[in-house]
Amino acid sequence: MIEYGHFIGGKEVKGTSGRAGDVFEPMTGELRARVAFAAPAEVAAAVANAKAAQPRWAATNPQRRARVLMKFLELANRDYDKLADCLAREHGKTIADAKGDVQRGLEVVEFACGIPHLMKGEYSEGAGPGIDLYSMRQPLGVVAGITPFNFPAMIPLWKCAPAIACGNAFILKPSERDPGVPLMLANLFMEAGLPAGILNVVNGDKEAVDAILDHPDIEAIGFVGSTPIAEYIYGRGCAAGKRVQCFGGAKNHMIVMPDADMDQAVDALVGAGYGSAGERCMAVSVAVPVGPKTGDVLLDKLIPRVESLKIGPSTSADADFGPLVTAAHLKRVKDYVALGIKEGAKLKVDGRDFKMQGYEKGFYMGGCLFDEVKPDMRIYKEEIFGPVLSVVRAKTYDEGLKLANDHEYGNGVAIFTRDGDAARDFAAKVNVGMVGINVPIPVPLAYYTFGGWKRSAFGDLNQHGPDSVRFYTKTKTVTSRWPSGVKEGAEFVIPTMK
Ligand code: NAD
Repeated sequence: MIEYGHFIGGKEVKGTSGRAGDVFEPMTGELRARVAFAAPAEVAAAVANAKAAQPRWAATNPQRRARVLMKFLELANRDYDKLADCLAREHGKTIADAKGDVQRGLEVVEFACGIPHLMKGEYSEGAGPGIDLYSMRQPLGVVAGITPFNFPAMIPLWKCAPAIACGNAFILKPSERDPGVPLMLANLFMEAGLPAGILNVVNGDKEAVDAILDHPDIEAIGFVGSTPIAEYIYGRGCAAGKRVQCFGGAKNHMIVMPDADMDQAVDALVGAGYGSAGERCMAVSVAVPVGPKTGDVLLDKLIPRVESLKIGPSTSADADFGPLVTAAHLKRVKDYVALGIKEGAKLKVDGRDFKMQGYEKGFYMGGCLFDEVKPDMRIYKEEIFGPVLSVVRAKTYDEGLKLANDHEYGNGVAIFTRDGDAARDFAAKVNVGMVGINVPIPVPLAYYTFGGWKRSAFGDLNQHGPDSVRFYTKTKTVTSRWPSGVKEGAEFVIPTMK
């Protein structure tokens, strides 16, 4: 059995707290590893290493920092298959999807390689008599990232690559459910030439997170996970005087207008609703057909597609999706399906009894599809995070728009239509952070920023793209005057440009 420890001071170290958790292989249901849970003293050791190493790294010129990231990219591409294999085995998603998880992370590393340009300040010559004014961006010091189970390569890389590129040292607390890939990434960074102490991984649960929240030498925290934990971390981190950004849960709607290409819409719904077993923060979990006939047309096409989804072990080359992450999560999702029936929604496809032949202990279920879901039902209001799609029928476009606007989550949303006016109006008026027009999972590329609205995110700045550089640096503005013959004497009133 694999024993996962931590990664502190440039090497893997064993846990010393005596506490540990189980890591399963969802496709077989078997125990794969034990992961050490860090005590506050182990978090403190990681922070001490980071703090000692950071000033030298910050003083390393940004081109050289970027070169370490470039080397890391080369090494991660060398080990691409190994990373995807470990990821699929611990998360449950298919190998093909696991490769996408790694790739979307590497694309943010590619973005961060532009750090010499991204960190450039501004300069105004002659802003006053003999005065030049300029700004510079400086790293914060030691920063931390706390990440979820559902993208164990992508989200740690979204957090640590920009932070490190900016000259910070980073403490990563990945999900305790799939810690293998984050440790592999830390090893690759070392091989790429990152100085020891600049990237540390502490595994663990709430105890490790609380130690990060309370540590006085951690300047900023980036979190991704469920909304209740996001809110908790945002509150406690801000109260401790840290810069905090927290990205939370979602309930992403896809509005299907009567003029939409229905085949395209159905393809989008099965891919975005059931891919990765629905365990994506950008999964479409609510379909909103608009108008009197659209719902029936859509369901006639959608039901057979959901019934024929291919579920398979993560290593299968032709599965549409694999198992869920844990037995506990599988039960939670099935309980939501039972709740939906109790609430009066019509279960059109029931995948709860699906069994994977040869993998009877794996955490599998088939796709489920509800019709006639109403906005006051819990299955509509709450995030299920499984292969369960709810259809909420809307009479008009305005009603569909209002549904997305009134929902407490505002991560992603999509509209499917051929009408440019409707699409434009939707993009302008919808109260959601990331919008797709005939695109079901509108995850922005690395050079734009990613972030939801409402209770899908807490804090001001988004992740990756230019916001990541703003988040991981502080701006200093310098007003400078050199003796140049300009003598103004003592000034007792505030200088202005009048
Ligand atoms: P989670 O909230 O259970 O865990 C996230 C992290 O918080 C983990 O590292 C975990 O160890 C830690 N944690 C868990 N409970 C804690 C507690 N009580 N106190 C302190 N720390 C705690 O989330 P998850 O199940 O790993 O991930 C799924 C969730 O993440 C979904 O809600 C999904 O929508 C969300 N998510 C959001 C985004 C986004 O960008 N908005 C992206 C991916 C996932």
